[in-house]
Amino acid sequence: MRLLPRTNTWHTRVLKFADLERFFCCTSCKGGYTEKYKGRIDSIKRKYEGKSEI
Ligand SMILES: [Zn+2]
Repeated sequence: MRLLPRTNTWHTRVLKFADLERFFCCTSCKGGYTEKYKGRIDSIKRKYEGKSEI
């Protein structure tokens, strides 16, 4: 699993959540990241959605 810097142009998979974007070389890297940081992503999403209601 590799998390790529934004400057790479050959990345093809983008994970978007809240106001963040993460770029990956392939779906399996994206899936691995999603699995690994599921709890964190959910918590960021919840905070973001909560803020947007104010
Ligand atoms: Zn990959």
